[in-house]
Amino acid sequence: MAGEPITLKLDSSGYIIAVNGQTISANDDGTVIYDTEGNKLCWISGNRLWLIIYNEEATTGSFTVTKTDASTGSVLPGAEFILYYLDNGTKYYYTASGTWDTDVSNAKPLTTDDASGEISVTDIPYNTYYLQETKAPAGYILDQTPIVIEVKDSTATVKKTISNAPIKPIVVTLEGTKTLTGKTLGDNMFSFTVKNSAGTEVAAGTNKADGTIEFTPIPYTYLDIGQTYTYTVKEVTGTDSGIIYDETSYTVTVTISLGSNGELQADIGYPTGGIVFNNTSKGSMNFQKVDAKDTTKTLEGAEFSLYKCDDATHSTASDHDDLADPGTCWQLVEADVGSDSDGYFGFDDLLSGTYLLVETTAPNGYQLPEGRWIITFDMTDGIQSIVASGSTSGTLAMKQAAAGSGADYLVLNLSVENYEMPMAGSTGVYRLMVGGCLLIACSLMGAGMLWKRKRKPSGS
Ligand SMILES: [Zn+2]
Repeated sequence: MAGEPITLKLDSSGYIIAVNGQTISANDDGTVIYDTEGNKLCWISGNRLWLIIYNEEATTGSFTVTKTDASTGSVLPGAEFILYYLDNGTKYYYTASGTWDTDVSNAKPLTTDDASGEISVTDIPYNTYYLQETKAPAGYILDQTPIVIEVKDSTATVKKTISNAPIKPIVVTLEGTKTLTGKTLGDNMFSFTVKNSAGTEVAAGTNKADGTIEFTPIPYTYLDIGQTYTYTVKEVTGTDSGIIYDETSYTVTVTISLGSNGELQADIGYPTGGIVFNNTSKGSMNFQKVDAKDTTKTLEGAEFSLYKCDDATHSTASDHDDLADPGTCWQLVEADVGSDSDGYFGFDDLLSGTYLLVETTAPNGYQLPEGRWIITFDMTDGIQSIVASGSTSGTLAMKQAAAGSGADYLVLNLSVENYEMPMAGSTGVYRLMVGGCLLIACSLMGAGMLWKRKRKPSGS
């Protein structure tokens, strides 16, 4: 049989005297010796033994696999594989020593070459092999589907090209909510910023009228796999003095991982309750100056000053009886605000609190009211109550305005012609009393003089 050894027997002089147990002699010219299968092994001719050498049949081959980018076709180094064949369902792994082992931990990692993106395995027995990717090139999706390689030809290397799809980048868009109290929210009224732990802005946002905050997306790539980023989300404090801006700082985390589908995943850790910025629009008071006897007659040219109670200096209720003396709580908000041609006047950007409204100048031909007004004000809900101050009757000289009229309250003045006895709070003293006629006024007014005397003459 081809491949079997031929046994030669030599005599003491070194001459062949038997082949495979068959005795021969130099005189046996023409004798042919066969193997057990009838193949010609040797023959004798011309006093020589001629041997036929059969080459053993080749039974090993090689393969080369090239790794490429699925999109561009460029070769990819750094992919790792293991190689095995199956025998009755058992995997035999190719090891570093070139042997085959059932223990996968002994499998040799086959890494695609930097320059060519190839792995080559040579001189392995004819068989069906499985090449399985264990590590994708950086930035590519691992494909663990075994590649079948049939090695059955010693003269031609099996060549295969396999590709990896790149891991696609993703973006994360944070979500938040904007509320505005006391005013209608409009698109893009407020802006927001997202900064990373280094203080660099990575996203910005503005609000929509429905209160959602639209942030710009934050991009991530495979390089971010395994990373957790911490961001700080804040509102950009605006310059509108009528708005109280929310200065809350929220912390958000984003963790990037590689999903089993080969796609990046982002897990966003929002603060409890989410990202919610609440702004408050400061309030306003609006009035209209009218004739007390005919409230359809609007009065231009009245002037008013508004004071606010300062909680820090307010000690007792009686502080509110005194406007001018030191130690009281009243702080001037705005002085000498005049009623316009339609009688309107008002004050904006007001915080909640207790206010004092003082008419400092009556319209021409009208009387100053006797008292002042103490107004309890909520910047969201507006005027809560108005009481007369420094008056004897407590009559208000104010009347709630019709809804939609543009004013919260009508401020009533009696004309000089309509002057009657001073009615505290509602009707007033003659404009001409103020100043030089103060003494006369006081004697006429009785209780009404009390606050009048305390007024600064310059305020009239
Ligand atoms: Zn006060």
